[in-house]
Amino acid sequence: MCRHLGWLGRPVSIASLVLDPPCGLRLQSYAPRRQKHGLLNADGWGVGFFDDTQVRRWRSAAPLWGDVSFASVSPALRSGCVVAAVRSATVGMPIESSASAPFTDGRWLLSHNGIVDRAVLPASPAAESSVDSALLAALIFERGLDNLGDTVTEVGSADPDARLNILAANGSRLLATTWGDTLSMLRRTDGVVLASEPYDDHPDWQDVPDRHLVEVVDGQVTLTPLKGSS
Ligand code: GLN
Repeated sequence: MCRHLGWLGRPVSIASLVLDPPCGLRLQSYAPRRQKHGLLNADGWGVGFFDDTQVRRWRSAAPLWGDVSFASVSPALRSGCVVAAVRSATVGMPIESSASAPFTDGRWLLSHNGIVDRAVLPASPAAESSVDSALLAALIFERGLDNLGDTVTEVGSADPDARLNILAANGSRLLATTWGDTLSMLRRTDGVVLASEPYDDHPDWQDVPDRHLVEVVDGQVTLTPLKGSS
């Protein structure tokens, strides 16, 4: 399914995270290396970042690899907190820019890599799209990000086939869950990257085990097993 990436650290250019790495989201849009579900991520993309405390987003329903405007402007956009994603739409879900992650409630940016039966999620007027990920994002915002682990565990037991890899950030915290798909972490001297798959072959990338919550604050990383982990 989709591939996502989060950054929390010193301000860096969006292009340096998303477009420049040899196996970054641009390459992952057509040739992901670790994707278990789906072949490529051509159904849209999105980048969200914090500009001081302001959330800014750029989303599209077209493939990232062909976006020359984004390629031109993104080297000039800098942020210390970024959530980006490329999308492989689940069958039956709408293909529209509002269905591309990251979603936001104005304070958090959130991406979902996976699939969930919409029947187990409450209808929400706050959802940005009818895509499963937008309904899930609305539920997570409503429950509060401090309860992210519990919300994922609850949704995972309501739909045992769900895959619930979440990535969320609010400018000073970067959170992620692993529930059915891959996630890797790179601790750099200037910050921490969490990504569905490594964007290069640096030996410092570490795989995050399944069914865990990851929290990054002030360069410190905490991993907590989620309830129901085997
Ligand atoms: N189910 C979501 C969608 O359709 C996410 C898909 C994914 O992770 N590939 O957009």
